[in-house]
Amino acid sequence: MDEHTRSSHADSDLFGNRFATREVPSRTFPASGMSALDAMRLVSQDLALEGDPARNLATFVTTWMEPEAQRLIATNLHRNFIDHAEYPRTAEIEQRCIRMLADLFHAPGPTTGARTQGSSEAIMLGAMSLKWNWRQRRGLDRDSPQAPNLVFGGDVHVVWEKFCRYFDVEPRIVPLQPGKYTIGPEDVEPHLDENTIGVAAVLGTTFTGHKDDITGINDLLVRVKSERGLDIPLHVDAASGGFVWPFLYPDSAWDFRLEQVRSINVSGHKFGLVYPGIGWLIFRERADLAQDLVFTENYLGKTDETFTLNFSTGSAMLLAQYYNLVRYGRAGYRYVMTNMQTNAQALAEQLKAMGRFEIIGEDEEQLPLVAFRLAGDPGYDEFDIAWQLSAERGWMVPAYTLPPDAHEVTIMRALVKETMSREHVDTLARDIDQACGTLDKKGSAHASERRKVVTGPGH
Ligand SMILES: *Cc1c(COP(=O)(O)O)cnc(C)c1O
Repeated sequence: MDEHTRSSHADSDLFGNRFATREVPSRTFPASGMSALDAMRLVSQDLALEGDPARNLATFVTTWMEPEAQRLIATNLHRNFIDHAEYPRTAEIEQRCIRMLADLFHAPGPTTGARTQGSSEAIMLGAMSLKWNWRQRRGLDRDSPQAPNLVFGGDVHVVWEKFCRYFDVEPRIVPLQPGKYTIGPEDVEPHLDENTIGVAAVLGTTFTGHKDDITGINDLLVRVKSERGLDIPLHVDAASGGFVWPFLYPDSAWDFRLEQVRSINVSGHKFGLVYPGIGWLIFRERADLAQDLVFTENYLGKTDETFTLNFSTGSAMLLAQYYNLVRYGRAGYRYVMTNMQTNAQALAEQLKAMGRFEIIGEDEEQLPLVAFRLAGDPGYDEFDIAWQLSAERGWMVPAYTLPPDAHEVTIMRALVKETMSREHVDTLARDIDQACGTLDKKGSAHASERRKVVTGPGH
């Protein structure tokens, strides 16, 4: 044993970390490896400096699952979801989830859909289907000069603009306005023409958690169909709302109960309560999926149909989604959603009682979150509060400006998740009040300091 090896062992035996006084491998591909224990400690130590998910009120994505679900995930990491021939039960479970979601969203009959990596992939696929169906509807071939367009509001997630750029579709974006953070039929109507592949409406925006006037937009599209003969499909981006509205607002029609709603995406890893890596695309009817986009292939000895952008991926999150659907059922999801909503309302009440804040749209149907902003000008802004709150107490509550033309409006947003107890809500409210107290004394933080905690709303 040379001196170096001996001292490495001494480090790990005595202090549990061979890298206590050494730089970790980070630039070149390591020439040799290390023990499994060392590797595990190295990675874990890096992550010890990560933010605490329980205090991350910025993300919509699941940060907690039941131990039984975790066990299921841990014991199913070695199966490739796409290998339908080898893993036919996994494929069957995917179909069960699709059928259950179609039922939840009031699909009129047998339909089809896809398990995706998240809503982003689901939206890319859904919007591609809109484009392909438009071309077919208009009898155009692939190199026809007609330029397709897609209509949506400034309140959508960035993925919609991404789709337009990647797949060469003109985005017709309805700007927001100060005080109006969602869109309705009057905004959409002027943008529609025979080259509109579809309209995208949001159920539960990332900015304030509200919904576009989906019923109004549907009625408009029904009228346009009868008056102008343009059959323009409506896609609902229900990334967050798809697992919230059916339980909190079951009588509010936004889904396939509306005639022009042809496809819906939802993120399993948001209010579907599964860890990241799962989303869903559900069509109203089989015919809404453009058949040209379905690949029938003979792979590993079995014919299989696929409609995905990704190929190989784990099956664990799919199994975890099915676990949640059968574990919770409608009653369980309703219970969880109602708890979140109740605690979000408690937080809103406490914020109002401080006399510093105005709550945004609390009387409307909304995701279980609190969107709020300063009511006056105390000499500091929402970015300062976000920074101070993170510095003092480690809470991650983002501040951000809204999209054009509401870009002068800065708001803060706190997601009230399943793990956020009333005790946490009370503590957060006190900590926000205290952070404001500190800022009252010391004034606005330095701009470069606060930029560190300013995270966008879109995740
Ligand atoms: C989160 C979100 C997306 C993107 O979803 P991922 O599942 O993160 O890919 C799209 N649209 C809306 C409205 C969202 O909230």
